[in-house]
Amino acid sequence: MSTSSPYRIAVIKGDGIGPEIVSSAMKVLSSAAARFGFGVEYNEVLAGGCAIDACGVPLPSYTLDACRASDAVLLGAVGGPKWDGIEPSRRPERALLGLRSGLGLYANLRPALLFPELASASPLKNAGAIDILIVRELTGGIYFGENGSYESSDLLADGTVKGKVAYDTEAYSEGEIRRIVKQAFEFARGRGRKLTLVDKANVLASSRLWREVASSVASDYPDVALDFLYVDNCTMQLIGRPSSFDVIVTSNMFGDIISDEAGMITGSIGMLPSASLGAPETPGMYEPIHGSAPDIAGTGKANPLATILSAAMMLRWSLGEKAAADAIEDAVKKVVADGYRTPDIASGADGEISVDTDGMTEAVLKALG
Ligand code: NAD
Repeated sequence: MSTSSPYRIAVIKGDGIGPEIVSSAMKVLSSAAARFGFGVEYNEVLAGGCAIDACGVPLPSYTLDACRASDAVLLGAVGGPKWDGIEPSRRPERALLGLRSGLGLYANLRPALLFPELASASPLKNAGAIDILIVRELTGGIYFGENGSYESSDLLADGTVKGKVAYDTEAYSEGEIRRIVKQAFEFARGRGRKLTLVDKANVLASSRLWREVASSVASDYPDVALDFLYVDNCTMQLIGRPSSFDVIVTSNMFGDIISDEAGMITGSIGMLPSASLGAPETPGMYEPIHGSAPDIAGTGKANPLATILSAAMMLRWSLGEKAAADAIEDAVKKVVADGYRTPDIASGADGEISVDTDGMTEAVLKALG
């Protein structure tokens, strides 16, 4: 699909390596746009530490307004040691929560793909072909449930006074579960037609509701095989048989944990993109899974591929430019197959071509044609 008016992309470069990797992704996006006959218009806005420096808050209201008025948001990363001393509610990372809740982004998609040429970077001995899509619920569950603390003079069985008690609540509504599970079924339908619901239904009432809702949604997707896995078992199976997974759908906290595990087994934090999506009319937000890597900011060592692949996800899921998305992903596969390596994915093997951030970007642009 292409339109006559350009797509409006809100760009948040952020902190640390953010400006370097987002600039790379913008070059690739613009090149894909020229090749496939559509326009992109960038609106650069501040969030994170640079926004604190410029206007005293991590997420200025004009940034959220600009994101709301866009077709999609491209984000680098926020945070860094410069702002570590600031009290938690005003730190750069609060911008992420504000963007997610402000845009209603309830579904977080994290593909974990092991490029065959980078298999030696995986900590697994025989990783096989890993291509998993984790669909994590992003705006509900225990991170957003009722929480608090109180003093208790009650005694434990051994006579110890309880003292301070703190609690967090995991609560999910049928509606919250249904919308994300439906989305996961749709993704599974477009991939390997296998969906795994990861939960803790042997212990948690909220997990049993997830199973109930997923089972009822499954009747609309007879072509997709649904199975269930307890989260503790899932952490083992991701290591034992990673290539057997296709799409995983799960709650906010379980998704937080297993998506990091799945990322780790692909061996390269600089290669993994992500998308956060809400209702069809709200803009999706696309960003690499890694942080602002202050240790390598300004050195040219940052791998831009996770951000470039995030831009490809944006083309596919928010802008409907599937051919351009495929072309970028193919270009990335080609440069990796051709041996181009930033330091984070270099193994020293024969045939590798060492490049910096700009060199990797140029290689992708060339492969894109
Ligand atoms: P990090 O992901 O920034 O870095 C971890 C390690 O991976 C570092 O050694 C870094 O050099 C390396 N690395 C990360 N991205 C890379 C890339 N593209 N190419 C090559 N190497 C790369 O995690 P951290 O060090 O724990 O966090 C640094 C800052 O980022 C903190 O302030 C943290 O709060 C913030 N953070 C932000 C986000 C986000 O904006 N979404 C996510 C995670 C962490």
